Amino acid sequence: MKAHKAKENTILKGIAVSSGIIIGKAHMVDRSRQKIIYQYLIDDREIDKEVARFKKALELTKEQIVTLKHKMSEQIREHSFILDAHLMIVDDNMVSDATVKTIIEEKINAEWALKKSVQKIRALFEEIDYEYIRDRINDVQNVTERILRNLAGKDQDSLSEINERVIIVAHDLSPADTSELNTAMVMGFITDVGGRTSHTAIIAQALKIPAVVGLETATTEVQDGDILIVDGYNGEIVIGPDEEKIRAYEEKQIYHERYKSSILRLSHLPSETLDGHRVAIKANIEFLEEVVAAKDHGAEGIGLYRTEYLYLRSKGIPDEEELFEDYKQVAEIISPAPVTIRTLDIGGDKFLTDHELTKETNPALGLRAIRFCLKEPKIFKPQLRAILRASAYGKIRLIFPMISGLQELREAKKILHEVMNDLEKEKVDFDRDVKLGIMIEVPSAVTMADILAREVEFFSIGTNDLIQYALAIDRVNEHVAYMYEPFHPAIIRMITQVVRAAKDAGIEVALCGEMAGDPYCASMLLGIGIDELSMNAGAIPLLKKIIRSISRKEAIKDLEDILKFATAEEVRAFIVKKTETLIPELKAKDYYMGLSINHDARVSIQFNQNNRTVSSLNP
Ligand code: PEP
Ligand code: MG
Repeated sequence: MKAHKAKENTILKGIAVSSGIIIGKAHMVDRSRQKIIYQYLIDDREIDKEVARFKKALELTKEQIVTLKHKMSEQIREHSFILDAHLMIVDDNMVSDATVKTIIEEKINAEWALKKSVQKIRALFEEIDYEYIRDRINDVQNVTERILRNLAGKDQDSLSEINERVIIVAHDLSPADTSELNTAMVMGFITDVGGRTSHTAIIAQALKIPAVVGLETATTEVQDGDILIVDGYNGEIVIGPDEEKIRAYEEKQIYHERYKSSILRLSHLPSETLDGHRVAIKANIEFLEEVVAAKDHGAEGIGLYRTEYLYLRSKGIPDEEELFEDYKQVAEIISPAPVTIRTLDIGGDKFLTDHELTKETNPALGLRAIRFCLKEPKIFKPQLRAILRASAYGKIRLIFPMISGLQELREAKKILHEVMNDLEKEKVDFDRDVKLGIMIEVPSAVTMADILAREVEFFSIGTNDLIQYALAIDRVNEHVAYMYEPFHPAIIRMITQVVRAAKDAGIEVALCGEMAGDPYCASMLLGIGIDELSMNAGAIPLLKKIIRSISRKEAIKDLEDILKFATAEEVRAFIVKKTETLIPELKAKDYYMGLSINHDARVSIQFNQNNRTVSSLNP
């Protein structure tokens, strides 16, 4: 419920996750699932009305599915069978007739009756031995949610169909929702929940849409059609700005644009320290379309291709051919530089919406990434085949996510070798010497790094997850976002341990979490001995500038001090001072681009734990 119309110039403070300033009209969307199902008894006189209400919701549901089917793009039309199946579910007796019968016989409301029908269907499905069929209960669930939303009179708003320039305001957006935003129309988005390194945030950066998350009260403070200013640099939102405020932000916008182009000019210089040490600076991408921008920003290759989004986007599992075409193009465009392709990291905060194979209480600790792939070789193997086939067209490195120990790595390698043997037998061309690496993002992999290093050719440290798992902070939860702490001495020790293990084994070590693009972390990571930093393309120019302003010798010396500190605060104080002496413009706090961790914002976020996030300039 909206409490009130926000006053002019009301300010909300959240977490800036994708840079840029936008001024535009709010468009509210409700992506929340129907969690609460109201249950009530009806009297005899209401039965006909209730049945009619249910039938109307069914009709509407069918119409929506048919419309969706007609609107499917050419690329994903082959998956239209999913929607045909959904239409059949709406018409199925166990859903429609059984619910009507329950409304009449038990005199209960339609939502409750529908829930009872679905419970019966679920019980039947659970007894089925064949996993594929058993998993179709998720389709039933999907259709049920749509019917429930229609019963509640909620819009089934499709984000991809927004056709005016707006700023999306939502309680939450999933990475799948975000990857489908119509970027020509959606200027940016703000959400109540979310964390700095959530995949929704990462996608926003990839699409270059300014975004602020974790605002807590955005959906209650903002009303549809309100004019908003979204500052994706410092996480500030202004609701109903006056002329003066708009002018101030327009000036800030111009400042940023100028700064961006001035720094972009430096991006093609080598990433070399003052004393001649080279660190590879590469880009993280989520979509094929980003490769050109990565090159334009001076990336020396793609250090991480997160391959999940093709699976999320096409609303169905893409086949080997589609994957092969995509990977081949990435390899060709970035060639002769390499691309590190990560195998599917589905689960956690990324779900295959229509093929949701798992419903878990703790998805981050569940059947995610390599665990999911090892369980689903029918999904894993085609991807491996596609990656290997593409390796004949450029320089591809392969990386497994979420490896937690040697046995798991060996299982994954076994499948990889089976796929290689199959391709050989089929006389299909691929790079037999494709380099294999693992993400180090689970604390157990840090502890076992010396052993794991013997079996792979490189490591890439995924600090987004490593911080999540080591410090026990859900990366998508805004309530603990203030604890996301790359300067925690435990994290610094872990990174150091991994780098030592890699050096001892003579293998390369990259770092590809958001920390890689943080200008304040660069010198420390250089001192630790990271060989490669991979980040969102927008962060590259500033990172190169920093690398070119520091000496490796000095960074190693500083590391000795850093390793002695017992708290993150001490580390931060030391590093901020050092870095801002070298790059004074960083002092202007939010006057730089591509910064994923705003060290200044951290203070206010911490403050917000005990204080209302809402303030007003015009009390
Ligand atoms: C990480 O965990 O740091 C990482 C790079 O992978 P992702 O953000 O996709 O989980
Ligand atoms: Mg990760």
